[in-house]
Amino acid sequence: MKRREPSTAAAGLLSAAVVLVVGLTVVVSVYASMRANQRENADRVMDQRTAVAAAAVRTETERYRSLVETAAAGISTNTALTWDDFDTATAPLASANLIGAASLAFVVPVGTTGIAAAQTLWRGRGAEGLTLKPVVAAEEHYFTIFTRTLNATGPPMNGLDIAAAPEAATTLDDSRRVGQPSVSDTYVLLRDRNLPAAQQQRSFVFAAPIWTRANHPEFRGWIVLGLRGEDFLSGVLATVSQGQLDGELLATGRDGTRPVVAAYTVPGDADLTRSVDLVVADRGWTLITRADASHLPGASSRLPLTLLLTGSGMSVLLAGLIYVLATGRARAVARVHEATVELRQAEAESRHQAGLLSAIMSSISDAVGVVDDKGAFLLHNPAARELLGVDEDADDPDAWQQHYGLFRPDGRTPFPVEDMPLIRALRGESCDNVEMIVRNAQRPEGILVSVDGRPLDTSAGRHGAVAVFHDITEMRRYENDLAVFAGVVAHDLKAPLTVIRGHCEAASEDLDEAPADVRGSLDRIILAVDRMAALIDTLLAYTTARDAPLRTRRVDLGALVAEVVHDRTAHLRDDDRPQIDVASLPAVTADPAMLRHVLDNLLGNALKYVRPGTTPQVQVTAEAHGEHWARIEVADRGIGIPDTAKPEIFDSFHRAHAEAGYAGTGLGLAICKRIVERHGGEIGVADNPGGGTRFHFTLPLPVREGEFDMTGNNDEAVARAALERALAERAAMENSRLPGLSALPAAEPSAHDPAAARLRAPVPDHHPTTTSAE
Ligand code: ADP
Repeated sequence: MKRREPSTAAAGLLSAAVVLVVGLTVVVSVYASMRANQRENADRVMDQRTAVAAAAVRTETERYRSLVETAAAGISTNTALTWDDFDTATAPLASANLIGAASLAFVVPVGTTGIAAAQTLWRGRGAEGLTLKPVVAAEEHYFTIFTRTLNATGPPMNGLDIAAAPEAATTLDDSRRVGQPSVSDTYVLLRDRNLPAAQQQRSFVFAAPIWTRANHPEFRGWIVLGLRGEDFLSGVLATVSQGQLDGELLATGRDGTRPVVAAYTVPGDADLTRSVDLVVADRGWTLITRADASHLPGASSRLPLTLLLTGSGMSVLLAGLIYVLATGRARAVARVHEATVELRQAEAESRHQAGLLSAIMSSISDAVGVVDDKGAFLLHNPAARELLGVDEDADDPDAWQQHYGLFRPDGRTPFPVEDMPLIRALRGESCDNVEMIVRNAQRPEGILVSVDGRPLDTSAGRHGAVAVFHDITEMRRYENDLAVFAGVVAHDLKAPLTVIRGHCEAASEDLDEAPADVRGSLDRIILAVDRMAALIDTLLAYTTARDAPLRTRRVDLGALVAEVVHDRTAHLRDDDRPQIDVASLPAVTADPAMLRHVLDNLLGNALKYVRPGTTPQVQVTAEAHGEHWARIEVADRGIGIPDTAKPEIFDSFHRAHAEAGYAGTGLGLAICKRIVERHGGEIGVADNPGGGTRFHFTLPLPVREGEFDMTGNNDEAVARAALERALAERAAMENSRLPGLSALPAAEPSAHDPAAARLRAPVPDHHPTTTSAE
């Protein structure tokens, strides 16, 4: 599966790339062919337009030529031409809509000598006020006699000498010579020469010779049509070009040059050009057209561009879609793979947890059993089977009593099912140290079992219960041994001392009159007896601290300290009261009697080891030490402990201030150390900054509700720590067992336990003393 992922992704990418390339290729080729089509269209349209324009120019020029020729022919028969004749003959031209035509004139050639006569002649024929204005340099003059203005403003300009314009004069000569209409090279019409330069146009004239038709043709003059080139061309092209065609008319000059006759421009960048040759009168002209292809109809469509953009966009979209579709599967596969890996990890982790749990369960010597909410066994360890001695489980709680043989500690009363720790735990109740006897076929002699029960969340919202069973038969037997030992010590060693003390007191009373040294001896005996009794108590406490079973439970440290302080100070006068500050203190898990002994010892020392005459000052504080421990400090302002002595003061019988006269046995701190270490904690000493001593010790905090939750939700470290602590306590207890003095019947453990009673008894007072018995 792993290997297919990248190949699927690559295939997706490849398909998308292929689609993109094919799509873009198709789109670009369609675009190119449409553009080519458009170009062809543009060429065709250009050809058509040019042909139409050329035809228009040809038609118009031909029309002008023929109109001029007709007018010339019309008046050629008239031997005595008058203004009226001219007016009549040329009247049709006025309405012929001659584009660009400025004026039509009747022109006659006059020699320099005949000017005056000609002026007179033509004035007589209707040319009123005619004044011939000859050009000085010319040999022959060509005067305009009659003029019909067409598209020009201003009065008719008669009497002008056309010889002033060589282009026109040449044309007149040519047409006279060949007897045919002729067209001139371009020049500025004489009548326009007074206009501002910007308004002057390149113009040309059509000239038709007037020959009589008699057998002897006689030349009479010319009909001359003056045309303004720009007006003519724009007029002709305006319609046919539809604003899309530029035009330029080139004439072939008589000198072989190709001057521009007229030019017409439209906006745009012309990229198409055509040129057509025309014959105008006797001359060859060329019409050059230009156009911007994109402005021509059929060639200006935006369709190809739109298609190119839309097509490219769609190709990209399609490629994207194909990529997403193709790689979507790869992604889904990858996600499934990821989930599978996570599941496998989770499975491995839970297997590991299960293995760990089973290893722990198998390795611990305590019996553990877990039941579900109906009381059916979910789990129990080999030690449980070993302890109960029954191979088969009974899943019905009502059958447990008989099946396992469970009795009250008296060994006779069947254990009521509703009081069984597992059943109480199923009801949500935690219980500790519930004792019961297990006696069945496999355990006919019976064993004493102590059971702790806890409610449990087995899995997702389902409840159950867990119970831990300890076989305390041996321990109880040993406790009984110890009780007997303590009883023997307490009674058999102290009883004679009591007798001695009694006798001493009696003797002291009887010897009221006796010498002082005899009474002093008696007092010293009484003091020595008291010291011995105190030493016996301390030794007993020392032994008990080492060997008595720990009975840990939740202890309110604040209340316990208050109790110790009260016992230590209640009997003192106000003036003698020490200054003791107790901060807020947490609850801890400890054997209350033993813990009381530790506190009493430390407070006792803090009150004892002060300079004579000073008021003792003591501070008791506590703080968290890691997550599961409390660190308690007892600090004083007393005489302090030299650094060299500090390492040894916790050793038995070691005293740092033995010579200073403070009473004591050197066992107090050894007992404290023993007790704290049996709780799994540690004890130490340091100087109190500013003077005095600062003792500290650590104790476990109470086990929080839910710490035995086996669903795996709780902190594993917490569970381990709790378990380790429990095992350490058990190990300490096991180690402390001494060979029993004798096997004793099981007895109810209680406050009557003499060892415990010793621990609860006030520790012998260690007030400074200077008795001579020391
Ligand atoms: P004891 O007090 O019976 O001599 P402990 O075991 O209680 O025996 O103390 C051991 C020694 O440590 C004491 O002899 C004393 O020298 C020293 N010591 C204990 N507590 C203090 C204290 N608060 N200030 C000064 N010295 C102390």
